[in-house]
Amino acid sequence: MTVLQYQVESGMARLTMNNPPLNALSHALRQALLAALDRALADARVRIIVVAGNERAFSSGADIKEFADGTFYADPFLPALVDAFEAASKPVIAAISGACMGGGLELALGCHYRVARADAKIAFPEVKLGLIPGAQGTQRLPRLVGLEAALNLIVSGATVTAATLAGTPLFDAVTNDSLAEAAGEFARKLGKEGYPVRRVRDLPVKHPQAEAFLQFAKTGVSAVSRGLAAPGRAFDAVAASVSQSFADGIATERKIFGELMASPESQALRHAFFAERAASKIPGITDQTPQRKIERVAVVGAGTMGGGIAMSFANAGLPVTLLDAKQEALDRGIAGVRKFYEGAVAKGKLKADEARRRGELITPSLDYSAAAKADLIIEAVFEDIAVKKAVFRELDRVAKRGAILATNTSTLDVDAIAGFTKRPGDVIGLHFFSPANVMRLLEVVRARKTRPDVLATAMSLARRIGKTAVVSGVCDGFIGNRMLDPYAQQALLMLEEGASPQQVDKAIEGFGFAMGPFRMSDLAGNDISWHIRKRHYAEHPKMRHMRIADRVCELGRFGQKSGLGWYRYEPGKRDAIPDPVVDAIIDEERKALRMKVRRLPDAEIVERLLYALINEGAKILEEGIALRASDIDVVYLTGYGFPLQRGGPMFHASQVGLGQVLRRMKQFAANEHADPASWKPARLLSRLAAAGRSFDDSTPARPAKSKRARPAPKRRGSRRGKLPGGKRRG
Ligand code: NAD
Repeated sequence: MTVLQYQVESGMARLTMNNPPLNALSHALRQALLAALDRALADARVRIIVVAGNERAFSSGADIKEFADGTFYADPFLPALVDAFEAASKPVIAAISGACMGGGLELALGCHYRVARADAKIAFPEVKLGLIPGAQGTQRLPRLVGLEAALNLIVSGATVTAATLAGTPLFDAVTNDSLAEAAGEFARKLGKEGYPVRRVRDLPVKHPQAEAFLQFAKTGVSAVSRGLAAPGRAFDAVAASVSQSFADGIATERKIFGELMASPESQALRHAFFAERAASKIPGITDQTPQRKIERVAVVGAGTMGGGIAMSFANAGLPVTLLDAKQEALDRGIAGVRKFYEGAVAKGKLKADEARRRGELITPSLDYSAAAKADLIIEAVFEDIAVKKAVFRELDRVAKRGAILATNTSTLDVDAIAGFTKRPGDVIGLHFFSPANVMRLLEVVRARKTRPDVLATAMSLARRIGKTAVVSGVCDGFIGNRMLDPYAQQALLMLEEGASPQQVDKAIEGFGFAMGPFRMSDLAGNDISWHIRKRHYAEHPKMRHMRIADRVCELGRFGQKSGLGWYRYEPGKRDAIPDPVVDAIIDEERKALRMKVRRLPDAEIVERLLYALINEGAKILEEGIALRASDIDVVYLTGYGFPLQRGGPMFHASQVGLGQVLRRMKQFAANEHADPASWKPARLLSRLAAAGRSFDDSTPARPAKSKRARPAPKRRGSRRGKLPGGKRRG
């Protein structure tokens, strides 16, 4: 297969990129483009050149796989290729359809003219990878669409259609019809004008008051950067298009690009990008794996989760039956759905008729037989195994043959739930996060008998409803919540040792977490973790009790919903205000424990929280609960507010060095108040650290025992040990 087709017809050389799926500008394609350009320039028959892609993409930009091995910089390096196109003595037209992004857009900007389909997707998404456009895009775009529009596009990474920018000099023609014809027509027009070339570098950047505008815009950029460096640096590069010559502006852009490329932030964001892609790949599941048709969905339980789950499907156009055992619960659930859609309309996020259409897709019912036609039934009733048993028995009775039966349980044994039916192969865990219609993460829990087609269907269904799916094996808490246990334990132990909830929260939020453990628990409801803790106390009588957390709950301080929790909350507000009542509880418990109170450095707080997560992550990996380290990162980045610019806990561990993580864990275990069992290193962590290696993302983890059609092994150890349990998100 050639990556580029070259044809000459009636004086026009047509260079058609053919590097599926999205014409990434790989080294081979860059070489082919340059060779074809030279060929066209040398061919006396050729008067004009058209560069095109296909319907899906003109080009999605650089091939970022080439970042890792340096091929990205191989000759011709993209900026040089763009220069060569712009320097051409014969006019070059970019014929743009589908995605025209990043380096692909830069190539188009290097061409002398651009003709586009109205629905072509235009973007500079580099900031999302912690970068800026690096092939002169920051200097050329402002010359075509103006300073303000260019700044908005480059700083946000947003995608717009070509139609949005029609009328700016970016496009010489925009069509709703055949792109080839529009390009041909434009070429004929140029022919009549004597085949002039127009180079973007020669155009001025227009803005009536550029400096004042930039001063004003800078504040806006820092407000939306969320601690990331790239948007601010993108601003600097675009600003250079005004204050510097084109040549100097390019040098500025190149310098900033180089700095960002080497930054840990960009490395982390690139890791996150690849990690999300990798998460959809499951050994043994291929494009050939059959899938079941999902056209109708039923959700059982119209509570906090059920309503959100129903909306997730309705938003994707799927009809949903929402079932509950109680009329009041059903009414509340439907009212919640209505309120959400009305709010979205009021905020201008959704058109009124679309909100109505979505709302009408959700049909309430008190009768299980209403689920008989559903292709997928998701259970979201109380977290109680007896209730789940009754529900699954009933679903087994009413569901049609071949329907997928899913549970949204956060902690219960999905194998046991599957065993309540006579069709365990059709049962799977679909663990949504709250609010289910908003949160991107979906843990897909593969039980021992889950059939491959059920798993494959769940993964593609997740994509259909806009979720990021990560496969987990069966264990208490699956990937995300299981890791929260030791994390929460450290947070609580640090209160006993001398820290305050606000110090712990501030320290980890300083690291970049959206919310510290105490604010998080107040949001999720302290009663949820209390309920789980009490179950653990009963199951493991010797385990250490978390008295401070228990006393907070004994006072009914369940968090935001009760106005009091680890903090207090003013009515209708979400600001967490430190509360002396909590300080007093902490003080009393410290006295009861005869603690020698000390001031904990913020760095220790951050390390203890993170290393607790990482060690549990390593156990999850070695047990085969997660398929790969990067899956764990995806769970934490998309579901738990882990800072994107840190790449996830396992990536962060590799950045720190596993040897260093292990050394610190040993020091923490030696602390007289520590629970040494909780710092027992995962075997995988010790082994990799000893070998000087890091978590290997490229190879899926080997399942702990023999063949993988079996389930991931059950979690061992910590539940029977001293792990005190802690907060978890449902
Ligand atoms: P909830 O208490 O808000 O809602 C449960 C609903 O189920 C209630 O409306 C109840 O009337 C209904 N119900 C109970 N028994 C029923 C039956 N036999 N038939 C039909 N309906 C019945 O609970 P929730 O917070 O939505 O949690 C539901 C499930 O989702 C639990 O397994 C929970 O662990 C899990 N989960 C919760 C969260 C969260 O943040 N709340 C997050 C992820 C997963």
